[in-house]
Amino acid sequence: METPISSPEVGIVPLEDVDMGVVRFLKKELSNIFKLKFTVFSPLPLPPSSFNSSKNQYFSSPILQLLKEKTSFFKVIGITDRDLYVPGLNFIFGQAELGGRAAIVSIARLKESFYGKEEDLRKLKIRALKECLHELGHTFGLRHCISPGCVMNFSNSIYEVDRKGITFCDSCSRFLHNLKR
Ligand SMILES: [Zn+2]
Ligand SMILES: [Zn+2]
Repeated sequence: METPISSPEVGIVPLEDVDMGVVRFLKKELSNIFKLKFTVFSPLPLPPSSFNSSKNQYFSSPILQLLKEKTSFFKVIGITDRDLYVPGLNFIFGQAELGGRAAIVSIARLKESFYGKEEDLRKLKIRALKECLHELGHTFGLRHCISPGCVMNFSNSIYEVDRKGITFCDSCSRFLHNLKR
């Protein structure tokens, strides 16, 4: 298939020392699924202002701001292994601007080791891919979906991340497809 020269580019930004093996896996899989060009940007440090020392977590909103300021991609998603929160929620797997440019995913709680189990890289990659599809889906304007298995299902626990599928349901797929025409 031909790609037009003006094809919009999606940036993946590794934040600090996140596992580049995971980042490369995401680039490959996301390119195939969205049929868009994904580019891995050079790693960026997390803004010090995003760190909350009493929670030992990072506030995601200043990080989204940083991603928008430092890059000019059509859509941009940051990947971090630091634990994220927004005020009012103990933690978040990720955050995105609905219909906007920026998204972020944290792999901190997608690791088996977070739950006291032996690390499973394959599982981590699949979970990270689901969360990236989900957050990027939001940037394309998709809201939470209740279709069983759809990757746009809201997930508030690792159990729910594992339970949902790795694909968009027919309705969400149609929504995304219509954007491209
Ligand atoms: Zn969501
Ligand atoms: Zn759906």
